[in-house]
Parts: sequence; structure tokens; C-alpha cells
Amino acid sequence: MTARVIIIGAGFGGIAAAIELKRGGHDAVLLLEKGDEVGGVWRDNTYPGAACDVPSPFYSYSFEPHPGWPRRYAGQPQILDYLIKVTDKYDVRRHVRFGAEVVACSWDDASRKWTVRLASGDELECDVLIPALGQLSRPSYPQINGRETFSGPAFHSARWDHDVNLDGKKVAVIGTGASAIQFVPAIQPLVASLTIFQRTPPYIVPRWDAEYGPRHQTLFRRVPQVQAGERLGWFAYLEVATTAFVYSSLLARAFTALARRHTRRQTAAVPGLFEKVWPDYPVGCKRALLSDTYLPALTQRNVQLVTDPIDHIGASGIRTAEGWHEADVIIYGTGFAATDFLVPMDVTGRDGLSLEKAWAEGAHAYFGLTVPGFPNLLIMYGPNTNTGGGSIVYFLETQARYIRAYVDQVASAGSALDLKPEVDAAFDAEIQRRLDDSVWTRCSSWYRAASGRITANWPGLSAEYRRRARFRPDDYLAI
Ligand code: NAP
Repeated sequence: MTARVIIIGAGFGGIAAAIELKRGGHDAVLLLEKGDEVGGVWRDNTYPGAACDVPSPFYSYSFEPHPGWPRRYAGQPQILDYLIKVTDKYDVRRHVRFGAEVVACSWDDASRKWTVRLASGDELECDVLIPALGQLSRPSYPQINGRETFSGPAFHSARWDHDVNLDGKKVAVIGTGASAIQFVPAIQPLVASLTIFQRTPPYIVPRWDAEYGPRHQTLFRRVPQVQAGERLGWFAYLEVATTAFVYSSLLARAFTALARRHTRRQTAAVPGLFEKVWPDYPVGCKRALLSDTYLPALTQRNVQLVTDPIDHIGASGIRTAEGWHEADVIIYGTGFAATDFLVPMDVTGRDGLSLEKAWAEGAHAYFGLTVPGFPNLLIMYGPNTNTGGGSIVYFLETQARYIRAYVDQVASAGSALDLKPEVDAAFDAEIQRRLDDSVWTRCSSWYRAASGRITANWPGLSAEYRRRARFRPDDYLAI
């Protein structure tokens, strides 16, 4: 039979799945995208200084190396441009329906099909459903009293308001995660004053960025093995970094020492600053950040780092336990609703089972992809497939290959597949046992749900995920 496939979301994951399916001869693929261009987070995050923090030769598809990266850590415009070009080159665009926001999906056992309902009221049917929404697509705004009373402009870093002119303004920034440490140094020279509200400091290590000039790019173009070698080198380096976080206290100590030296040096100009920005939790528990410019920005005269807790927001500023801070503009660098996964879509599987109910204790899925009771549903970048140190694109490609093999099976057997509950239970027990011992239990972060369960991260190395996440028909019941 021809398997009709709907993919929700045209970011790195959805595009990878579409390309892989088309390669496998599955052309009845429809991508539903609520925006008006592909790119996912790389379309939405346009804040000043937005760039990747995984080296671009490795933060790109293995089947589409890009010799033209302008630097080791490409910026958001270049990454978006890359995704647009890949979409067109692999003829994916004709499969995309833009402006299509999915609100609900439900499985029908009798027809063995998914019905996908759009915000417009349209309903579409498919055999296989692939949500590819990512873990970091829904901005999270802090629950701070009085947030709505602020009278000036206020926006989230992932929805940057480019109409707000920051020149000469008093700007308040809440949050010091991966996004904030990129836009803070970019806006610091423009503004009259920058007040940064830090709840928990991140570990910061050198970025070791490098320009890829014309000679470098020509070499990558003429001798693709050189770029492939660089990709392999970064893969190995990031596996070592993950090993430091996951397995080795010796490597973790070395990583901590690197961060301490960098932080000491970069804060030396301001007495007391090191003590304010040095973390008190083990390295790797929150994502370690790469920056050569954030800490120097904190030493500038127009910057104040506030570490006492925020009490409330008022019409003209922010009140902390120890003082009042005037602001013309507030920028929320407060991250994403990462543990919600498919929310706010309403997903209903067999016998009316809702995914929300199935995941009441925290989201989990077999290799992040499949859930018993939800036949022919494959989630990209699902639970426990984030990497503490590696490239998510590598995980997404692994998932795309899994999906292709799965759809091959559905098409050839003409049946739907439902994950065996015992396979799910054994896998989940293993993952949770490993995560229970992990560094990620030792602080709070977007890796953990409110229940404390770690729902974001894969507990091992990327290579282990690639080796193990292979479709096996025996894991499923044909229905
Ligand atoms: P994040 O790492 O979750 O950081 C959010 C920040 O906001 C944290 O400092 C957090 O403090 C603070 N915060 C949240 N609620 C708060 C509140 N009520 N009061 C005060 N502070 C509050 O979010 P993100 O920086 O957007 O990054 C999320 C992930 O996106 C990253 O880990 C990374 O995987 C990805 N990312 C990647 C790049 C890149 O490739 N360059 C760039 C941006 C983002 P606590 O730590 O105390 O919670």
C-alpha cells in the first residue's frame, strides 16, 4: 500500500524525515507548518547574536555538508538559509502546507488512520503521523507577580521585537541561559544601561570560534574529506564532553577547571564578580555554555548583574528583595516549555487514550519515538533524545532513518504497528535507572519535568543512540 504520512513542523527534524522518506520512495508526504517559512527555531529565534553553539560542520545534515559556512559557529541567518536551500534542493517545499496549525490528532482503530485537525477547522487523514515540534519551540514566560503591569515594551528572546529600538534605553534582562549569553554582549554597546537578573549562573567555557575564510571554504569544497574530518573531530570532542557530564568525574573536574580559569580571567577587572557568576552545582547539570564575550560584557560600566531574587514587576521596573531597578524595556531570556512536548496539541490514541494522560507522570517514549497505544505515531526529538553535549541534528538523522524503516514496514505489510507495552516498560526502566544516577538530578533545569523526572536527555553517548535506535518489527504488534 502507499503509506500516507503527515509530518508536523518543518524544522531540522521534519525536513530530515521528509528527505529520508522521499529517498525511501515514500512520496505521499505532507508537512504541516504553522509558520510561513521552513526553519523551526532557526526561523523564530532572530535575537541579536543568535548563533549555533555546536560547530557547524557537525550541526548540519551528514548528507548535505556545507563548505560555505562563514565561521565555525554559524549565525542564525546562515543556518536558516542552509535549511531553506536544503528544502528546495531535496524538493521538500512542494510537500509543505504553510499556515497550517494542528490543534488535535486522533487515531481510529477501525480505519487504522490518524485524523489531524487544523486550527482552520480542516481535517486531514494519514496512516503515519510524525510530530516534529522540537523541545524548544514554545517560549516560557516567568510567573512573576505584576508582569502584565509593566508599561514599556517587553518581549521574549525567541520572539524578538525588532521594532523596539534599544538605543540609549534602560534595558532589563531576565535569565542567563544559552540565549541570554548570546544577546547580552550584542546589545550591551547600544543601551544606556543593562540590568541582568540572574537566578542561577551557568558554567561558561571558551568558544574557540574561528572564521572560515575563502581559502578554508575552497579547501572544504575541493577536498570534502577535510570538512568530513572536521565533522568527525567535533563529533569525537562532543562525545568526550558528554562523557565528562555522564560518566567520568575525572573529565568533569578537567572541564570545571577549564570553566573556572576562563571565568576567573574574564571577570578579573571587577572585584566580586567571579563569586557572583561561579556556579554551585556540578558541571553539566545545566547546559554548559560557550562564550568569549558574555563575561566581558558584564564588566562594562553600563551593566549591572543582580542576583537577589525578583519580587515583582511594576509599571516602570523590577523590584528585587534588595532594591528597585528602573527599566524602559524588559527582555525575557527565560527559555522554553521544554517538558510539555506535544502541548498544546490534543493527541488521542487507541480506546480514547489521551497522550496527556499516558504521560501524566512525565513524557516517555521508546527511543523518544513511539508510545504504546498510539499506533503509527513517531515523535521526532521526543522524550529523552536531547543531548547534553552533542549535536541534535545527529539524533534527528538517526530518528529519520528509524522512521523510514518503520514506514517501509507499514507500507509493505499494509498494517499499523503498536509498540508492545513490555518493550516500552523495559526500555523506560533502563533509561530511568540510568538517569537516576546522572548529574542532571543535581539541579533544576529544562531537562526535568515538575515531577523531577528527566524527560529531555538521552542518558548516554550519541553513538549509543545511533547504534541502538534501529527499527525492529518484533518490538511492535501488527494491528
Ligand atoms: P534556558 O537555558 O532554560 O535559560 C533560561 C534562563 O531563565 C535561566 O537562566 C533561568 O534560570 C532563567 N529563568 C527562568 N525563569 C525565571 C524566573 N522566573 N525568574 C528568574 N529567572 C528565570 O533557556 P535558553 O537560554 O533559551 O536556552 C534553552 C536551550 O535552547 C539551551 O539549553 C540550548 O539547548 C538551546 N539554545 C541553543 C542555542 C545555541 O545553539 N546557541 C542558543 C539558545 C538556546 P534558572 O537556571 O535558575 O532556571
